Amino acid sequence: MGAVADPVLGQLQYGQVQWLPGPLERQARENHRLLLSLDEDSMLRPFRVRAGHAAPGSDLGGWYDADAFAPGATFGQWISALSRYHALTGHEPTRDKVHRLVRAYAATIEPDGRFYRNNRFPAYIYDKLAGGLVDAQCFAGMGDAVAALAHTARAALPHLPDRAMPRNEHSQPGEDFTRHAWDESYTLPESQFFAWHLTGDDLYRALAIRFLYDDFFSALARGENVLPGKHAYSHVNALSSAAQAHLSLNTVMHLDAARQGFAMIDAQSYATGGWGPDEHFIEPGSDALGASLDGTRSFETPCGGYAHIKLTRYLLRITRDARYGDSMERLIYNTVLGALPLQPDGRAFYYSDYSRHARKGFHWDRWPCCSGTLPLVAADYAISLCFTDLHGLYVNLYAPAQVAWQRGGIACRLTMTTDYPYDGTISLQLSIPTSLRFILRLRIPAWVSTAHVQVNGRSHPAICEPGTFAALDREWQPGDRVDLQLSMPLRLLKVDSLHPQTVALLAGPLVLMRVLDAGAEPEGAPGAESEAEPEGEPPAAAVAEPDAAPAAQPDPDLAPAARELLRARELLSARRPYATARDWQVQTPHRTLSLRPFMDIRDEGYRVYQDIADDAP
Ligand SMILES: [Zn+2]
Repeated sequence: MGAVADPVLGQLQYGQVQWLPGPLERQARENHRLLLSLDEDSMLRPFRVRAGHAAPGSDLGGWYDADAFAPGATFGQWISALSRYHALTGHEPTRDKVHRLVRAYAATIEPDGRFYRNNRFPAYIYDKLAGGLVDAQCFAGMGDAVAALAHTARAALPHLPDRAMPRNEHSQPGEDFTRHAWDESYTLPESQFFAWHLTGDDLYRALAIRFLYDDFFSALARGENVLPGKHAYSHVNALSSAAQAHLSLNTVMHLDAARQGFAMIDAQSYATGGWGPDEHFIEPGSDALGASLDGTRSFETPCGGYAHIKLTRYLLRITRDARYGDSMERLIYNTVLGALPLQPDGRAFYYSDYSRHARKGFHWDRWPCCSGTLPLVAADYAISLCFTDLHGLYVNLYAPAQVAWQRGGIACRLTMTTDYPYDGTISLQLSIPTSLRFILRLRIPAWVSTAHVQVNGRSHPAICEPGTFAALDREWQPGDRVDLQLSMPLRLLKVDSLHPQTVALLAGPLVLMRVLDAGAEPEGAPGAESEAEPEGEPPAAAVAEPDAAPAAQPDPDLAPAARELLRARELLSARRPYATARDWQVQTPHRTLSLRPFMDIRDEGYRVYQDIADDAP
């Protein structure tokens, strides 16, 4: 056969996945419920006020208001997320809310785009609105959304720059924010390609091409690391535009840019998969990642998570390389799933804190960017779970769920049961009406030491090579059951090569974070075996006033027990007291330490990286 490239893996529809109780299901349910509860007049106020229309209801506050930092910036993402939750659950009140909001929003659009005048983020907001209107049509059956999209594009166009512009072209004092580039025009192509595919209107194709950030992409494609100093989240998000440009225009350079750019980001990531301390990329090979552990703004979690998961989904579908799935799950379990839930008053989790005495907190402003992306992240777990090709099904994430798909017109269903990633046992129950040949592929993470597959209780000879998909090619029978057993080895990862004694402990995909105190739990609550927090501990910088310098937490201020250096072998001896425990324990000569995954940490102090007295093996 000639060198015909494999076609891109097919993505499931949201409605093909039904979650069963688990961490992914929990975060999706919480965000769906929160968006359903938001007052519609309040959501619409920035658009109505700026159009000079009557605007009943109260302001949401924070970044969102008509004269605030980013007016209505998350509205489009909320429309997207509600549409995707409708597709996921079939919930009719969710669809009705999308239809009401889009209709009311459409009534505020004016041809001269008054909304975008004196607005810091015309491209950012247009991008999110376009995405929301495309999704309202695709996932919530809102036929009028396409017309609202066309009006939105016409209104925004005079206020968009001529090309993708660097974000660091800051505004001048007193400027009226109409033409400057402190905006993210370089993330626009992805939504414009979607709009083009949906409508066939060449205007959107032209806009997509106009905003391709080809200076940036071609440098990455040549292998030049031009990331240092760049705003982290928005440039990772731009790589999804490169991936979509490759799919839409068949350009090799854009795929090279996405792959090379991702590899450069991966090389400067924390053990959690997060990147971009203080929202910026660092110099490769420098000590900046280790040095960043003195700060608290370690990773812009919901936005960064959204961009990273979307990019790895593209790259996995295009290349079929299982390691993009490894990267995706590492980021899901160690960052976004541990985000504090978005609150009805707009308090939102923003930065993950990897300082030596870290604590979770909300952003100082209500309704920041991350309140738009967290609901999208949680909705999109469903389309990252499994993929299809001509030969069968790829299972990428391991989570309790039912997946329905068609094969040769035959309805198939797979029910996944697992306590992953706490446990490496995954059961897959197949439900098909008749015998059927196809290949079931299971992701074998690169970090496993051993992996075994059984079919109907008998060992299966599938090759379980770490970092690949194991292929089970078989004439499947109704009721067949597959059991996958992945080892979850403990291992240490250095923060960077210049800090060999600063390490994170991992169990399978989970980073185990050292619990430093019991947080605000009542006295005598579980966790009393952990070290006590000293009296008068200052609040975490993540909840401090805007633009306060990150409050370094020098070790001498910590309780003596929290300063104690561990040994590598002590960390690697971490065990759970019983099989289903959520905490691991390390015994030192002086005490028992608790280690906990990020998604199980609430308000207790924690430490991601441990300073050890000897070098990691
Ligand atoms: Zn954000």
